[in-house]
Parts: sequence; C-alpha cells; structure tokens
Amino acid sequence: VLTRVWLVSKENKNKFQILAHTDSLTGIYNRYGFDELAEKMINKNPKAKFVAVLLDIDDFKDYNTNYGHQEGDNVIKFVANTLKENFKGEVGRNGGDEFVFGYEGDISKEELDRKVKKVYDILNKGYTRGDLLKNMSVPCSIGIVTAIGGSFDYAKLLKEADNAMYDAKINGKNTYVI
Ligand code: GH3
Ligand code: MG
Repeated sequence: VLTRVWLVSKENKNKFQILAHTDSLTGIYNRYGFDELAEKMINKNPKAKFVAVLLDIDDFKDYNTNYGHQEGDNVIKFVANTLKENFKGEVGRNGGDEFVFGYEGDISKEELDRKVKKVYDILNKGYTRGDLLKNMSVPCSIGIVTAIGGSFDYAKLLKEADNAMYDAKINGKNTYVI
C-alpha cells in the first residue's frame, strides 16, 4: 500500500510540475517554464551561442473586437502551432499575445534570418477557419538577439529582445529586427 501511495504521489508531483511549466491554451511552455529552460540551457553550456526571439501579434485586440474572444484564442493557438512546427528550437508563450522562442547552437545570421522569415511568412499568409476567417493575415512584430553563453544573463538577453521588438513596433509593425 505504501509503495502505491508513493507512486501515486510521485505521479501527481510530475503532473503538477508539467502544469506549472505549461501554457494551458496552447500546450507550449509558459513564461515560467521557458525562463527555467533557458537558464538551464545557458548554464549547462556557457560557451554556446544562444538566440532569443520575441514575437508579439500586431493589433491583436482587433481580433477579439471583430471576431470574439474565442476566435482570438484560436489565432493564439495558430501562432503557437506555427512556431512549434516551423522553428526548430524551444517555444513558449510569455503571456497574452507575446511569444518567446529560443535556439542554442552555432547559427549564422543568414540561417537565423531564414528561420524567422519562414515563421513570419506563414503568419502573414494567414489563417483560415470556415468562411468567416479566410486567409486572415496575422501580422506580428519580432525582435531577435544573439549572444554567447557566459557573457550575458538570460534576463538581460530577454530585455534586449524586448527592445528589438519594440523597435519593430515603432518602425511600423509587421517587421522583424535583429
Ligand atoms: P500592439 O500592436 O501594440 O501589440 O497592440 P495589440 O492590440 O496587439 O495589444 P497588446 O499586444 O498590447 O495586448 C494584447 C491583447 O491581447 C490584450 C488582450 O485583449 C488580448 N489577449 C491577451 N491574452 C489573451 C488570450 O488568452 N486570448 C485572447 N483571445 N485575447 C487575449
Ligand atoms: Mg500585440
């Protein structure tokens, strides 16, 4: 009986761990989960190159206003799936309509540009659901930063990505800044 109690409590602990790290709407990492993962990746390999990308949907409030909150949720899921399927790396939802994704490894600027552009193009090409939402473009602003592990801390890297994303927003939105 004791062994069974122990196994069940271990299983529950694992479930809680997963829930605490996961965004319930999209199934990708939440902010807490992604932060922890990024810190671990950086600490494990202090000489590795690390890329952080922040993406925020442009004028997302309009989706909610025009099509309702539930359709807005579907757009968020579409963005999460697009990132998951097309950006080989780790993906998280920072909250609201903001996403974070990261990559560890030696990647050239051209390759990084290609990876981000792929995601950006798919989102701009649009999202279709029934007749109401046909090829609804999902424009977004993206900030990208790279750093070598050990020479930075993750919070600082994220702040720089946030600044780059902000530059994209004020440069007319629907663009990305490296
Ligand atoms: P900007 O172009 O400057 O990014 O403007 P924005 O309209 O996208 O607004 P902002 O990014 O500042 O705010 C995001 C909005 O997303 C606020 C809220 O109405 C909506 N939102 C946040 N979380 C959710 C969610 O889980 N589901 C839905 N449907 N909407 C959400
Ligand atoms: Mg937004």
